[in-house]
Amino acid sequence: MITIHLKRNREKSVRGGNPWIFSGSIDRVSGTPSAGEHCIVRTFQGEPLGCGYYNHHSAITVRMLRWGEEAFNDAALSTAIQQAIAQRQSILGDDTDSCRLINSEGDFLPGLVVDSYTGGLVMQIQTAGMERMREAVVAALVSVCTPPFIYERSDPESRAREGIAGAEGICYGSLPPGLVIRENRLVFGADIARGQKTGFFFDQRHNRALLRSYAAGRCVCDCFSYSGGFAVSALAGGARSVDAVDQSEAALRQLRDNVAANNLDGGRVTTYTADVFSFLRETGARYDCIVLDPPKFARHPGEVERASRGYKDINLLACKNSAPGGIIFTFSCSNAVDARLFRQIVFAAAADSGRRFQLLHSLAAGPDHPVNLAHREGEYLKGLVLRAEG
Ligand code: SAH
Repeated sequence: MITIHLKRNREKSVRGGNPWIFSGSIDRVSGTPSAGEHCIVRTFQGEPLGCGYYNHHSAITVRMLRWGEEAFNDAALSTAIQQAIAQRQSILGDDTDSCRLINSEGDFLPGLVVDSYTGGLVMQIQTAGMERMREAVVAALVSVCTPPFIYERSDPESRAREGIAGAEGICYGSLPPGLVIRENRLVFGADIARGQKTGFFFDQRHNRALLRSYAAGRCVCDCFSYSGGFAVSALAGGARSVDAVDQSEAALRQLRDNVAANNLDGGRVTTYTADVFSFLRETGARYDCIVLDPPKFARHPGEVERASRGYKDINLLACKNSAPGGIIFTFSCSNAVDARLFRQIVFAAAADSGRRFQLLHSLAAGPDHPVNLAHREGEYLKGLVLRAEG
Protein backbone atom coordinates (compact mmCIF):
# COMPACT_ATOMS: atom_id res chain seq x y z
CA MET A 1 0.00 0.00 0.00
CA ILE A 2 1.04 3.61 -0.59
CA THR A 3 2.82 5.02 2.45
CA ILE A 4 3.08 8.67 3.42
CA HIS A 5 5.82 9.76 5.80
CA LEU A 6 5.23 13.06 7.56
CA LYS A 7 7.97 15.60 8.12
CA ARG A 8 9.71 15.57 11.47
CA ASN A 9 7.39 16.68 14.34
CA ARG A 10 4.37 17.19 12.08
CA GLU A 11 2.29 14.36 13.57
CA LYS A 12 0.77 16.22 16.53
CA SER A 13 -2.47 17.36 14.93
CA VAL A 14 -3.03 14.01 13.19
CA ARG A 15 -2.50 12.20 16.49
CA GLY A 16 -4.99 14.62 18.06
CA GLY A 17 -7.64 13.51 15.56
CA ASN A 18 -7.43 16.18 12.84
CA PRO A 19 -8.10 14.35 9.56
CA TRP A 20 -6.44 16.95 7.31
CA ILE A 21 -2.80 16.65 6.27
CA PHE A 22 -1.54 19.50 4.08
CA SER A 23 1.09 18.98 1.39
CA GLY A 24 3.61 21.00 3.43
CA SER A 25 3.60 18.40 6.23
CA ILE A 26 4.54 15.51 3.96
CA ASP A 27 8.16 14.42 3.79
CA ARG A 28 7.95 11.57 1.30
CA VAL A 29 5.52 9.30 -0.51
CA SER A 30 6.41 5.72 -1.28
CA GLY A 31 4.81 4.50 -4.50
CA THR A 32 2.95 6.57 -7.08
CA PRO A 33 -0.58 7.00 -5.79
CA SER A 34 -3.39 7.98 -8.09
CA ALA A 35 -5.93 10.57 -6.96
CA GLY A 36 -8.00 9.24 -4.08
CA GLU A 37 -5.96 6.10 -3.43
CA HIS A 38 -5.87 4.78 0.11
CA CYS A 39 -2.59 5.21 1.99
CA ILE A 40 -0.94 4.47 5.31
CA VAL A 41 0.32 7.51 7.21
CA ARG A 42 3.49 7.26 9.29
CA THR A 43 5.54 9.65 11.35
CA PHE A 44 8.95 10.74 10.08
CA GLN A 45 10.48 7.91 12.12
CA GLY A 46 8.06 5.36 10.62
CA GLU A 47 5.55 4.89 13.42
CA PRO A 48 2.10 4.14 11.90
CA LEU A 49 -0.60 6.72 12.68
CA GLY A 50 -3.50 5.40 10.64
CA CYS A 51 -4.86 5.34 7.12
CA GLY A 52 -6.50 7.83 4.83
CA TYR A 53 -6.76 8.74 1.20
CA TYR A 54 -4.31 10.72 -0.89
CA ASN A 55 -4.81 13.34 -3.58
CA HIS A 56 -1.90 15.35 -4.96
CA HIS A 57 -4.35 17.75 -6.71
CA SER A 58 -5.52 19.12 -3.37
CA ALA A 59 -3.67 21.29 -0.84
CA ILE A 60 -5.29 18.94 1.70
CA THR A 61 -3.23 16.08 0.37
CA VAL A 62 -4.36 13.38 2.80
CA ARG A 63 -7.65 13.02 4.65
CA MET A 64 -7.55 10.48 7.45
CA LEU A 65 -10.19 7.77 7.61
CA ARG A 66 -9.04 5.71 10.56
CA TRP A 67 -6.46 5.88 13.32
CA GLY A 68 -4.41 2.85 14.46
CA GLU A 69 -3.29 -0.08 12.39
CA GLU A 70 -6.57 -1.39 10.94
CA ALA A 71 -7.41 -0.69 7.31
CA PHE A 72 -10.50 1.30 6.29
CA ASN A 73 -12.47 -1.24 4.26
CA ASP A 74 -16.11 -1.40 3.15
CA ALA A 75 -17.15 -2.84 6.53
CA ALA A 76 -15.55 0.13 8.35
CA LEU A 77 -17.27 2.52 5.94
CA SER A 78 -20.63 0.89 6.56
CA THR A 79 -20.12 1.04 10.35
CA ALA A 80 -19.23 4.76 10.21
CA ILE A 81 -22.34 5.43 8.09
CA GLN A 82 -24.53 3.45 10.50
CA GLN A 83 -23.15 5.29 13.52
CA ALA A 84 -23.72 8.71 11.97
CA ILE A 85 -27.29 7.90 11.03
CA ALA A 86 -28.13 6.35 14.42
CA GLN A 87 -27.29 9.67 16.09
CA ARG A 88 -29.97 11.50 14.11
CA GLN A 89 -32.85 9.58 15.66
CA SER A 90 -33.32 12.19 18.39
CA ILE A 91 -33.83 14.91 15.74
CA LEU A 92 -36.34 13.10 13.58
CA GLY A 93 -39.89 12.65 14.85
CA ASP A 94 -43.34 14.18 14.51
CA ASP A 95 -42.07 17.80 14.33
CA THR A 96 -39.19 17.26 11.89
CA ASP A 97 -38.84 14.54 9.28
CA SER A 98 -35.70 15.68 7.42
CA CYS A 99 -32.13 16.54 8.41
CA ARG A 100 -28.45 16.06 7.64
CA LEU A 101 -27.48 12.41 8.13
CA ILE A 102 -23.77 12.51 7.39
CA ASN A 103 -21.65 15.62 7.88
CA SER A 104 -18.31 14.85 6.27
CA GLU A 105 -15.33 15.36 8.64
CA GLY A 106 -17.77 16.02 11.50
CA ASP A 107 -18.94 12.42 11.21
CA PHE A 108 -15.45 11.05 10.50
CA LEU A 109 -16.33 10.51 6.83
CA PRO A 110 -14.32 13.20 5.02
CA GLY A 111 -15.79 14.19 1.68
CA LEU A 112 -19.25 12.69 2.22
CA VAL A 113 -22.39 14.69 2.94
CA VAL A 114 -25.84 13.09 2.99
CA ASP A 115 -29.13 14.85 3.71
CA SER A 116 -32.43 13.04 4.26
CA TYR A 117 -35.55 14.55 2.68
CA THR A 118 -38.38 12.59 4.36
CA GLY A 119 -36.28 9.48 3.93
CA GLY A 120 -35.11 10.17 0.35
CA LEU A 121 -31.37 10.89 0.29
CA VAL A 122 -29.38 13.67 -1.35
CA MET A 123 -25.69 12.86 -1.46
CA GLN A 124 -22.59 14.98 -2.03
CA ILE A 125 -19.27 13.32 -2.80
CA GLN A 126 -16.68 16.08 -2.55
CA THR A 127 -13.29 14.36 -2.85
CA ALA A 128 -11.49 11.95 -5.14
CA GLY A 129 -10.99 9.61 -2.16
CA MET A 130 -14.69 9.40 -1.40
CA GLU A 131 -15.42 9.13 -5.14
CA ARG A 132 -13.41 5.88 -5.21
CA MET A 133 -15.68 4.51 -2.48
CA ARG A 134 -18.86 5.59 -4.28
CA GLU A 135 -20.27 2.10 -4.87
CA ALA A 136 -19.71 1.05 -1.27
CA VAL A 137 -21.25 4.32 -0.02
CA VAL A 138 -24.41 3.86 -2.10
CA ALA A 139 -24.67 0.18 -1.07
CA ALA A 140 -24.30 1.07 2.63
CA LEU A 141 -26.88 3.88 2.39
CA VAL A 142 -29.36 1.56 0.68
CA SER A 143 -28.87 -1.14 3.29
CA VAL A 144 -28.95 1.18 6.35
CA CYS A 145 -31.73 3.59 5.24
CA THR A 146 -33.76 1.69 2.60
CA PRO A 147 -34.41 5.08 0.93
CA PRO A 148 -36.92 5.58 -1.89
CA PHE A 149 -34.16 7.38 -3.82
CA ILE A 150 -30.59 8.62 -3.67
CA TYR A 151 -29.95 11.79 -5.69
CA GLU A 152 -26.48 13.25 -6.12
CA ARG A 153 -25.92 17.03 -5.88
CA SER A 154 -22.14 17.20 -5.48
CA ASP A 155 -20.72 20.72 -5.30
CA PRO A 156 -18.84 21.25 -8.58
CA GLU A 157 -16.39 23.70 -6.97
CA SER A 158 -15.14 21.24 -4.34
CA ARG A 159 -14.85 18.53 -6.95
CA ALA A 160 -12.89 20.82 -9.27
CA ARG A 161 -10.40 21.49 -6.44
CA GLU A 162 -9.95 17.70 -6.24
CA GLY A 163 -9.46 17.37 -10.01
CA ILE A 164 -12.67 15.39 -10.54
CA ALA A 165 -15.61 16.14 -12.82
CA GLY A 166 -18.96 17.36 -11.51
CA ALA A 167 -21.59 14.77 -10.62
CA GLU A 168 -25.32 15.20 -10.43
CA GLY A 169 -28.36 13.01 -10.95
CA ILE A 170 -30.22 10.02 -9.69
CA CYS A 171 -28.10 7.16 -8.26
CA TYR A 172 -30.83 4.94 -6.92
CA GLY A 173 -34.64 4.73 -7.16
CA SER A 174 -36.50 7.65 -8.71
CA LEU A 175 -37.06 11.23 -7.64
CA PRO A 176 -40.69 12.00 -6.78
CA PRO A 177 -42.17 15.25 -8.10
CA GLY A 178 -43.06 17.95 -5.55
CA LEU A 179 -41.09 16.85 -2.51
CA VAL A 180 -42.35 18.34 0.78
CA ILE A 181 -40.43 18.16 4.07
CA ARG A 182 -41.48 18.95 7.64
CA GLU A 183 -39.36 21.08 9.95
CA ASN A 184 -40.46 22.26 13.40
CA ARG A 185 -44.09 21.37 12.48
CA LEU A 186 -43.94 23.56 9.34
CA VAL A 187 -43.87 22.24 5.79
CA PHE A 188 -41.51 23.30 3.00
CA GLY A 189 -41.35 22.32 -0.64
CA ALA A 190 -37.76 21.58 -1.60
CA ASP A 191 -36.35 21.46 -5.11
CA ILE A 192 -33.60 18.88 -4.82
CA ALA A 193 -32.58 18.97 -8.47
CA ARG A 194 -32.54 22.74 -9.07
CA GLY A 195 -32.53 24.37 -5.61
CA GLN A 196 -29.39 25.64 -3.87
CA LYS A 197 -26.98 23.19 -2.20
CA THR A 198 -29.03 20.01 -1.69
CA GLY A 199 -32.36 21.93 -1.83
CA PHE A 200 -32.90 23.10 1.75
CA PHE A 201 -30.63 24.43 4.51
CA PHE A 202 -31.10 22.11 7.49
CA ASP A 203 -28.31 23.74 9.51
CA GLN A 204 -30.60 26.63 10.54
CA ARG A 205 -33.44 24.48 11.96
CA HIS A 206 -33.13 25.42 15.63
CA ASN A 207 -32.16 29.01 14.82
CA ARG A 208 -35.43 29.32 12.89
CA ALA A 209 -37.28 27.99 15.95
CA LEU A 210 -35.53 30.68 18.01
CA LEU A 211 -36.62 33.39 15.57
CA ARG A 212 -40.17 32.08 15.80
CA SER A 213 -40.10 32.63 19.58
CA TYR A 214 -39.16 36.31 19.05
CA ALA A 215 -41.45 37.07 16.13
CA ALA A 216 -44.83 37.88 17.70
CA GLY A 217 -46.10 41.32 16.63
CA ARG A 218 -42.84 42.25 14.88
CA CYS A 219 -42.22 43.64 11.38
CA VAL A 220 -39.57 41.25 10.08
CA CYS A 221 -37.14 41.57 7.18
CA ASP A 222 -35.75 38.20 6.04
CA CYS A 223 -32.64 39.01 3.98
CA PHE A 224 -31.17 36.29 1.73
CA SER A 225 -34.44 34.50 2.38
CA TYR A 226 -34.06 31.67 -0.17
CA SER A 227 -37.20 29.51 0.12
CA GLY A 228 -38.31 31.15 3.37
CA GLY A 229 -37.03 28.96 6.19
CA PHE A 230 -36.87 32.05 8.43
CA ALA A 231 -39.78 33.96 6.85
CA VAL A 232 -42.25 31.09 7.33
CA SER A 233 -41.02 30.54 10.91
CA ALA A 234 -41.54 34.25 11.67
CA LEU A 235 -45.11 34.10 10.30
CA ALA A 236 -45.78 30.98 12.38
CA GLY A 237 -44.55 32.91 15.42
CA GLY A 238 -47.08 35.68 14.80
CA ALA A 239 -45.01 38.31 12.95
CA ARG A 240 -47.05 41.36 11.97
CA SER A 241 -45.42 41.44 8.52
CA VAL A 242 -42.51 39.83 6.69
CA ASP A 243 -40.49 41.38 3.87
CA ALA A 244 -38.43 38.65 2.18
CA VAL A 245 -35.47 39.72 0.04
CA ASP A 246 -33.52 37.48 -2.34
CA GLN A 247 -31.94 37.96 -5.74
CA SER A 248 -33.43 34.70 -6.99
CA GLU A 249 -36.98 34.90 -8.28
CA ALA A 250 -37.20 31.08 -8.29
CA ALA A 251 -36.37 31.04 -4.56
CA LEU A 252 -39.02 33.66 -3.84
CA ARG A 253 -41.61 31.71 -5.82
CA GLN A 254 -40.83 28.71 -3.63
CA LEU A 255 -41.07 30.97 -0.57
CA ARG A 256 -44.56 32.14 -1.54
CA ASP A 257 -45.60 28.51 -2.12
CA ASN A 258 -44.18 27.58 1.29
CA VAL A 259 -46.10 30.38 3.00
CA ALA A 260 -49.31 29.20 1.30
CA ALA A 261 -48.64 25.53 2.16
CA ASN A 262 -48.63 26.48 5.84
CA ASN A 263 -51.79 28.62 5.54
CA LEU A 264 -49.88 31.55 6.97
CA ASP A 265 -50.23 34.46 4.60
CA GLY A 266 -53.13 36.70 5.51
CA GLY A 267 -51.50 39.43 3.40
CA ARG A 268 -48.50 39.64 5.71
CA VAL A 269 -45.76 38.73 3.22
CA THR A 270 -44.06 40.86 0.56
CA THR A 271 -41.24 39.42 -1.55
CA TYR A 272 -38.53 41.57 -3.14
CA THR A 273 -36.32 40.26 -5.95
CA ALA A 274 -33.40 42.48 -5.10
CA ASP A 275 -29.78 42.74 -4.02
CA VAL A 276 -29.82 42.86 -0.20
CA PHE A 277 -27.11 45.54 -0.03
CA SER A 278 -29.11 47.93 -2.22
CA PHE A 279 -32.41 46.99 -0.60
CA LEU A 280 -31.17 47.76 2.91
CA ARG A 281 -29.49 50.96 1.72
CA GLU A 282 -32.61 52.22 0.00
CA THR A 283 -35.51 51.01 2.13
CA GLY A 284 -36.89 53.66 4.37
CA ALA A 285 -38.43 50.99 6.63
CA ARG A 286 -37.39 50.43 10.25
CA TYR A 287 -37.74 46.76 11.18
CA ASP A 288 -38.38 45.11 14.55
CA CYS A 289 -36.43 42.08 13.38
CA ILE A 290 -33.87 41.60 10.61
CA VAL A 291 -32.41 38.26 9.52
CA LEU A 292 -29.10 38.26 7.62
CA ASP A 293 -28.26 34.79 6.31
CA PRO A 294 -25.99 35.48 3.34
CA PRO A 295 -24.20 32.91 1.17
CA LYS A 296 -20.54 32.18 1.85
CA PHE A 297 -18.76 35.53 1.22
CA ALA A 298 -15.28 33.94 1.64
CA ARG A 299 -14.70 30.64 -0.11
CA HIS A 300 -11.03 30.51 0.92
CA PRO A 301 -8.62 32.46 3.17
CA GLY A 302 -7.64 34.76 0.28
CA GLU A 303 -11.16 36.18 0.24
CA VAL A 304 -11.43 36.96 3.96
CA GLU A 305 -10.67 40.65 3.63
CA ARG A 306 -13.24 41.28 0.92
CA ALA A 307 -15.78 39.10 2.74
CA SER A 308 -15.21 41.02 5.98
CA ARG A 309 -16.12 44.26 4.20
CA GLY A 310 -19.31 42.61 2.92
CA TYR A 311 -20.28 41.39 6.41
CA LYS A 312 -19.48 44.80 7.87
CA ASP A 313 -21.64 46.57 5.26
CA ILE A 314 -24.79 44.47 5.66
CA ASN A 315 -24.52 44.41 9.45
CA LEU A 316 -24.06 48.17 9.61
CA LEU A 317 -27.12 48.59 7.36
CA ALA A 318 -29.14 46.21 9.54
CA CYS A 319 -28.11 48.10 12.68
CA LYS A 320 -29.17 51.40 11.11
CA ASN A 321 -32.48 49.94 9.88
CA SER A 322 -33.49 48.43 13.22
CA ALA A 323 -36.38 49.99 15.08
CA PRO A 324 -35.84 50.71 18.79
CA GLY A 325 -35.79 47.32 20.55
CA GLY A 326 -35.27 45.62 17.19
CA ILE A 327 -33.62 42.20 17.02
CA ILE A 328 -30.96 41.22 14.47
CA PHE A 329 -30.23 37.58 13.62
CA THR A 330 -26.92 37.70 11.76
CA PHE A 331 -25.01 34.73 10.31
CA SER A 332 -21.86 33.80 8.45
CA CYS A 333 -21.31 30.41 6.82
CA SER A 334 -17.75 31.13 5.62
CA ASN A 335 -15.28 28.67 7.21
CA ALA A 336 -12.49 31.11 6.48
CA VAL A 337 -14.13 33.75 8.71
CA ASP A 338 -13.89 32.25 12.20
CA ALA A 339 -16.20 32.96 15.13
CA ARG A 340 -13.82 35.50 16.65
CA LEU A 341 -13.45 37.52 13.47
CA PHE A 342 -17.19 37.40 12.80
CA ARG A 343 -17.89 38.81 16.27
CA GLN A 344 -15.34 41.56 15.73
CA ILE A 345 -16.94 42.55 12.44
CA VAL A 346 -20.51 42.54 13.77
CA PHE A 347 -19.61 44.39 16.97
CA ALA A 348 -17.68 47.00 14.97
CA ALA A 349 -20.70 47.47 12.69
CA ALA A 350 -22.95 47.92 15.72
CA ALA A 351 -20.55 50.49 17.18
CA ASP A 352 -20.31 52.38 13.86
CA SER A 353 -24.10 52.67 13.71
CA GLY A 354 -23.87 54.99 16.71
CA ARG A 355 -26.53 53.02 18.57
CA ARG A 356 -26.31 50.73 21.58
CA PHE A 357 -26.86 46.97 21.17
CA GLN A 358 -27.02 43.98 23.48
CA LEU A 359 -25.83 40.46 22.61
CA LEU A 360 -28.61 37.93 23.27
CA HIS A 361 -27.40 34.67 21.69
CA SER A 362 -24.39 33.09 20.01
CA LEU A 363 -25.57 30.49 17.53
CA ALA A 364 -24.17 27.65 15.46
CA ALA A 365 -25.41 24.87 13.20
CA GLY A 366 -27.67 22.24 14.75
CA PRO A 367 -26.62 18.86 16.16
CA ASP A 368 -27.16 17.11 12.83
CA HIS A 369 -24.06 19.08 11.73
CA PRO A 370 -21.61 17.82 14.36
CA VAL A 371 -18.06 19.20 14.44
CA ASN A 372 -15.00 17.04 15.13
CA LEU A 373 -13.29 18.96 17.95
CA ALA A 374 -9.92 18.23 16.38
CA HIS A 375 -11.17 19.82 13.13
CA ARG A 376 -12.58 23.21 14.01
CA GLU A 377 -12.60 24.11 10.31
CA GLY A 378 -15.88 22.19 10.27
CA GLU A 379 -17.49 24.84 12.48
CA TYR A 380 -18.59 26.93 9.52
CA LEU A 381 -21.92 28.43 10.65
CA LYS A 382 -21.80 31.23 13.20
CA GLY A 383 -24.69 33.39 14.30
CA LEU A 384 -25.30 36.26 16.69
CA VAL A 385 -28.55 37.73 17.94
CA LEU A 386 -28.38 41.42 18.85
CA ARG A 387 -31.00 43.71 20.33
CA ALA A 388 -31.07 47.44 19.70
CA GLU A 389 -31.64 49.68 22.69
CA GLY A 390 -35.38 50.28 23.13
N1 SAH B 1 -31.92 31.96 4.78
C1 SAH B 1 -32.09 30.87 3.85
C2 SAH B 1 -30.80 30.43 3.19
C3 SAH B 1 -30.05 31.52 2.49
S1 SAH B 1 -29.01 30.94 1.21
C4 SAH B 1 -32.79 29.71 4.53
O1 SAH B 1 -33.04 29.77 5.73
O2 SAH B 1 -33.08 28.73 3.85
C5 SAH B 1 -28.45 32.41 0.51
C6 SAH B 1 -29.44 33.11 -0.41
O3 SAH B 1 -28.91 34.38 -0.71
C7 SAH B 1 -29.70 32.46 -1.76
O4 SAH B 1 -31.08 32.22 -1.89
C8 SAH B 1 -29.22 33.47 -2.82
O5 SAH B 1 -30.08 33.55 -3.94
C9 SAH B 1 -29.27 34.75 -2.05
N2 SAH B 1 -28.33 35.83 -2.42
C10 SAH B 1 -27.01 35.74 -2.62
N3 SAH B 1 -26.47 36.97 -2.80
C11 SAH B 1 -27.50 37.87 -2.71
C12 SAH B 1 -27.60 39.29 -2.78
N4 SAH B 1 -26.51 40.04 -2.96
N5 SAH B 1 -28.80 39.85 -2.61
C13 SAH B 1 -29.92 39.08 -2.43
N6 SAH B 1 -29.88 37.74 -2.34
C14 SAH B 1 -28.69 37.13 -2.47
